[in-house]
Formats: sequence, structure tokens, C-alpha cells
Amino acid sequence: MTTDIKQILTSLGLDPAILEGGDLEVHTPIDGSLLGKVRQDTAESLDQKIALAVEAFASWRQVPAPVRGELVRRFGDQLRRHKEALGALVTLENGKLLQEGLGEVQEMIDICDFAVGLSRQLYGLTIASERPGHRMAETWHPLGVVGVISAFNFPVAVWAWNSAIALVCGDPVIWKPSDKTPITALACQHLFDQVAADFEAAPEGLAQIVIVGRDIGQNLVDDPRVPLISATGSTAMGRTIGPRIAERFGRSILELGGNNAIIVGPSADLDLTVRGVVFGAVGTCGQRCTSTRRLIVNEAIYDELLPRLRKAYQSIGVGNPMEAGNLVGPLIDGGAFAAMEKALVQAVQEGGTVFGGGRALANKYPAAYYVNPAIVEMGAQTDIVRDETFAPILYVLKYKDIEEAIALQNDVPQGLSSAIFTNDVREAERFTSAVGSDCGIANVNIGTSGAEIGGAFGGEKETGGGRESGSDSWKAYMRRSTSTVNYTSELPLAQGIKFDL
Ligand code: NAD
Repeated sequence: MTTDIKQILTSLGLDPAILEGGDLEVHTPIDGSLLGKVRQDTAESLDQKIALAVEAFASWRQVPAPVRGELVRRFGDQLRRHKEALGALVTLENGKLLQEGLGEVQEMIDICDFAVGLSRQLYGLTIASERPGHRMAETWHPLGVVGVISAFNFPVAVWAWNSAIALVCGDPVIWKPSDKTPITALACQHLFDQVAADFEAAPEGLAQIVIVGRDIGQNLVDDPRVPLISATGSTAMGRTIGPRIAERFGRSILELGGNNAIIVGPSADLDLTVRGVVFGAVGTCGQRCTSTRRLIVNEAIYDELLPRLRKAYQSIGVGNPMEAGNLVGPLIDGGAFAAMEKALVQAVQEGGTVFGGGRALANKYPAAYYVNPAIVEMGAQTDIVRDETFAPILYVLKYKDIEEAIALQNDVPQGLSSAIFTNDVREAERFTSAVGSDCGIANVNIGTSGAEIGGAFGGEKETGGGRESGSDSWKAYMRRSTSTVNYTSELPLAQGIKFDL
């Protein structure tokens, strides 16, 4: 696969001129070199795009949902045709492994398939009326313009999770990607535009993109013409925008930070555990919202598991994510590296013992930030352990009984993903029960990362409470209408009320 960005853009049908003339500099995390200078939107152009999306809504909501699904089906096929190039572009701009870049595009394809099926299944309910000769029904209608704000670490999949569902639900989309990954976003938009241009029922402005920073991005958040904002990013971002959306009675889907733990019980299959923990903790260089950040190990197996983990960490290939054989690519930028260093210093101050960590390949890539993943043994769940550092740091804690392990697992502000490795059915059932993990995702014998699109994705507490992707997440993109129809000539009132005229 070529690493020449101009060749990749050309093969996606994009004019490489998009890399010139703008003031948003984009660097590849692979070697820190400049990929391009992308042009940004202004407050005025954002305003115009919202107005166009409102117009698009007026017609798109009247297109039958299965026809809307046909557009998404064609978009899925378009992604299949361009999977290799788009996957490579994700790797170039974001730094995740090429296999992960391709996997992200596959997720886009999968959610399109899911949404196509969904377009014929936007079911409402028929509800028993207490009044004779009446029928009561619940119907789901399109909601309006959906604003999608996405993070750098899943630069294309999160948009697809939202857009595929929003489009079949009858909603136009305006996408504000991360300012660290605007080029992949422009490529996705271009692929969508090509499909929409050949689809008669698709109005102009059905899916649009705005390249803006936080300041102008806030206008999207505050605009009452946008009834739903689906925002993925840090808890700090959610804390800023959540109250602003609530203030205007808008709806939000907030997908924020995680602090995901794996509990390892005394009966766990340790071969499986080592694989699950290492993939969860170092995969995507610890830059997944579902990355494993905490390991809560039963005291009976602690001394057996830890040396095995250290050995596995020593064999991990850190290097260029385009090259096969490497398992850990670079951090996104110098800011992420500084945050990792700072967290490790604090961990030591709070009693931790660090194994690994530190910059790697600095001579080969002086302008990029490769790191050795770190394991930190902690005596207690201190402040730094309870914080999300977006880097490959795995804090390890020891426990005596399962109640203590679950209490530790839940005793953090975030509530995204969690897992237990055990062969004890009672432990497993307890972990997934009402008194178990308090997270949106609770797995048994698989790690914390790598959720499938069929399930509702999201988490509790400071993770924001939103759900997107599969299951019945589509309901957040529609409005519910309850209708009661009287097919008699009587007018019986509810609750037995008499009102004789
Ligand atoms: P970030 O919060 O810095 O930025 C995310 C997006 O929000 C960007 O597009 C950014 O420009 C935008 N943004 C920030 N403040 C804004 C504001 N006031 N108004 C409008 N837009 C604003 O996050 P990041 O560094 O890009 O991504 C990493 C974070 O995202 C981690 O905390 C990770 O856990 C989280 N994340 C969560 C999920 C999930 O589904 N729960 C998925 C991926 C990433």
C-alpha cells in the first residue's frame, strides 16, 4: 500500500489540491511530516450549511425509509470499493496500524448494512386503549438535522455509526470532525457526495462537513436548528457542550472518556487473559476509548500473571504502523506524549512501580512520538488511576474477593467498558448482573476494546450516558408520536371523567 498521500487521494477521486491553501496544518503521526494545509469553514459558511440542511430535512423526511436505506446501501458499496485507500489514509493521518485502519472502514461498511436492514424496521407499537372504539399507536418520525462531532482516534467509524442511522431515520447530518483528522473526513464526504449525486431522492445538503475548531464548532452545538448533537470525545468536551445543549432543550448523545478495567479471577485461563489484556492495553497505542487502563488481579494468581505480562510487553513491536509486524504505532502528537510522561511521574509519586514507558525510536522519527507501553503496579486506586490518560499505561491492582474487585472496578468516575476473565460461572454472572459492573459494556473472557456494531455502544457516569450504533439506538435519532384515533360517534374520556354538556 502506498504512503503517498496524493496518490491515495487521487485513487479516492479527490483532488490533492485540498491539501493546499488552508491554514489548518495536518501532520502525520508516523513521522511528524506535514500532510497538508486544509481550508477551514467560517461561522458564516457553517450557518449556511445548517440552513441548507434544514431545507434538506423538509424533503428527506418524506422519502420512504426503505428508499433512504437504498442510499445507505449504495454508500456501503462505495466504501467496499475504496476500503484499501481509505484505510491507508486513516493510518497516515491518525497513526493506527494499517489493519486497524482497514478495520475501521469495515466498521463503516457493517453499520451501513445494519442501517439498510433497519430502514425496513423502524417499528412503532400499538397500545391497548382503555376507551372503547379507540386505537392508540406510537409512531417514530424523523427528528431533524443531526450534528456529529467526532474525536481523532476513530476518525471515520464514529461518523458512519451516526450518519448511516441518522440517514435512514430521515435526518440530514452535519459533521464536525476532529481538527487532527480533517483529511480522512473530507475523503469520506467526497465518497458520500458521489453516491448522493446519483440518487434522485437525495436533496442537496443531506450530509455535509464543516472543518472548524472548537470556537466555531460551538455554534453548531448552540444552534436550535440542530435538534440532536451526537458528540464523541473527552469528558472535558462533554462537560462544556452538554449543559449548553441542555440549556436550549436540545438532545445529545455524549460518548466520552472511559477508564476501562479487566478483572482476572483465580480460575481465569491465563493464556487467554494475557492475549486479551495486551491487545486491550497496547492496541491502537492505548488510544481507544475502550482501551484497557486498569487490571484488577486476584492475589492467588498475581505472581503468575505479572511476569507473563511483562514478558509479552517486551516482545511487542513498536514502529511504523504501515509496516506489517508492528503492533503499536505512534501517539497522535507531542501533547499526548507529554500527558503520558506526566501520568507516569504522578503514578510514581502515588506509590506506583513502573515497568516500560518512555519514548521509542526518537532517532529514527525525531518529529513523531512512539512510546514503550507501560505497566504500573499500584498499591491502591489513587487519583491518577481514576483519571483517563489517553496512552498505553496499564495500572495493576491486587484484590482478595470478587466483591472487592467489583467495587474497585466501579470506583472511577467513568463507566464505558469492563471485562472479567474467569471460568467460574458464578463470578461471571455476578459481574454482568445488577450488582456487577456499572459500565455500558460488561464482557466475559474477552477484553474491553473492540465492540461490535450490532450492540448499543456507550457508557454511564462521566462517559456521558449516550448510546449509538446498533440495538435500538436509532430511537435517539427520531421523535416519538403517540396518536389516539376514535372510530366511534361517542366521546368517552380517559380516567372515567364525566364532562356532560
Ligand atoms: P476532544 O474532546 O479533544 O475532541 C473531540 C471533538 O470535540 C473534536 O472534534 C473537538 O474539536 C471537539 N470539541 C472539543 N470541544 C468542543 C466544543 N467546546 N465545542 C464543539 N466541539 C468541541 O477528544 P479527542 O482528543 O479528539 O479524543 C479522545 C477522547 O475521546 C478520549 O477521552 C476518548 O475516551 C474519547 N472517545 C470516546 C469515545 C466513546 O465512544 N465513548 C469514542 C472515541 C473517543
